[in-house]
Amino acid sequence: MLRLNGKEVSAVRRAQLKSKLKDFCNRTNHTPGLAVVLVGDDPASHVYVGGKIRACAEAGINSFEHRLPVDTTSAQLKCLIEKLNDDIAVDGILVQLPLPKGLDSNKVLGWIDPDKDVDGLTPSSMGHLWLDKPRATPCTPSGVMAILNYYNIAVEGLKAVVVGRSNIVGKPMAYLLTQANATVTICHSKTKDLPSYTRDADIVVVAAGKPQMLGKEDFKRGSIVIDVGIHHQPVKDGKNKLFGDVRFEELEGWVKAATPVPGGVGPMTISMLLENTLHLAELNHI
Ligand code: NDP
Repeated sequence: MLRLNGKEVSAVRRAQLKSKLKDFCNRTNHTPGLAVVLVGDDPASHVYVGGKIRACAEAGINSFEHRLPVDTTSAQLKCLIEKLNDDIAVDGILVQLPLPKGLDSNKVLGWIDPDKDVDGLTPSSMGHLWLDKPRATPCTPSGVMAILNYYNIAVEGLKAVVVGRSNIVGKPMAYLLTQANATVTICHSKTKDLPSYTRDADIVVVAAGKPQMLGKEDFKRGSIVIDVGIHHQPVKDGKNKLFGDVRFEELEGWVKAATPVPGGVGPMTISMLLENTLHLAELNHI
């Protein structure tokens, strides 16, 4: 089984990004900037945001961190996003999801200027994606495509199944696979007999958010398995360990290729975020 090493792909792409960034800064005298907005005290979100801020610093992108309390009102959040929309130092705005109860994420994402929508999640960006003209493509699905591309895995003509239909992962993932000429089925929590779909697929992208949900018996021999799921779960000694939606250790000797968790899709999401920030800065500085 080929272990699809997202950490390696990400390192290669970040090295390439560094030189593109240097060239961009020299040409425009502007350093791309990413604003990250986090509302509330979800521990996993704080870890993800910390990782994104560190990655910006390592790449040479300015970052502007806004950690807001859980009782932030809709009006306060809108006011901050409008300020960031008008700030010329900011090229990309990322609102970390999920938002606390009481804040409507679709409404909040809709306040982001589409020209600064670094995760491609505003209604306008989603529309542009489906019309084949995205400014920024959602980071996690484009990270999956980058892994496939790095390992020369062509999906054209393949039967693909995406498990999950969220706006952030499942739907754009299905769209990108379709664009790459796979024939795609989207499964979700109401799908009857999920294994009958996943076992028939040449490639399965699992983004159900259910720890260790699928294993060897759910996949066809020789297929490709991409695990998007991330779960921090307690193990012995009160420590936490990361798990995916797939029981990776069962796949050896059965599937052709698979992404591990950690070290698979996760590092790619951050890389694509950095790449999207530069891309938006380029579009904004033509
Ligand atoms: P959501 O909870 O928004 O969506 C989960 C989707 O999976 C829903 O469409 C749901 O169906 C479907 N689903 C849930 N249970 C089942 C089931 N038993 N069978 C089939 N489908 C099911 O999650 P996200 O899309 O935001 O994230 C998915 C996972 O990916 C999470 O573990 C998340 O932490 C991880 N993630 C990882 C990232 C990375 O960088 N690697 C980035 C983003 C997310 P329905 O629509 O019917 O409810």
